[in-house]
Amino acid sequence: MAKVRNLEKDTAINETDAAGTPALRKGAAFRKGKTITGSCLCGAVKFTVKGEPIRTGLCHCHDCRRTSGSAFAMFSIWDRSAFACTGPTKTYEGRSFCPSCGSRVFSLRPGEAEIMAGTLDRAPTDITPGYEIWTKRREHWLHPLRSAEQFEGDAG
Ligand SMILES: [Zn+2]
Ligand SMILES: [Zn+2]
Repeated sequence: MAKVRNLEKDTAINETDAAGTPALRKGAAFRKGKTITGSCLCGAVKFTVKGEPIRTGLCHCHDCRRTSGSAFAMFSIWDRSAFACTGPTKTYEGRSFCPSCGSRVFSLRPGEAEIMAGTLDRAPTDITPGYEIWTKRREHWLHPLRSAEQFEGDAG
């Protein structure tokens, strides 16, 4: 718990702009191309992404249900060059996770870094999904996001 508390403190300092205003709350952090921090639950894996994500989605597919252990996954994709990481990870079928605490953190592909949005330090994130995929697997009590393009299976 102490580690987590320290992280939140650090994040709060990093994301405060010159005027002393919490920048991320206004969405300013992404517009300014600020560095956003993220980590796994135990803190062994830490990463940063710079600027705005290229795209953000929700996925309700079987694989995302399994790997998240929940009903759906939220992910944001940055250019690979905007991403940096420290700490050990293991990777299963392209999905990287912390070997100590098991948090799913990101998937790295040529040119792209797909970040599991729940691993970003600040919550809520101020990122809005632009699309939802595998909606045919969506839980019945969940509603389509009005702002998000809908796909029954994979996008496109
Ligand atoms: Zn961990
Ligand atoms: Zn999925």
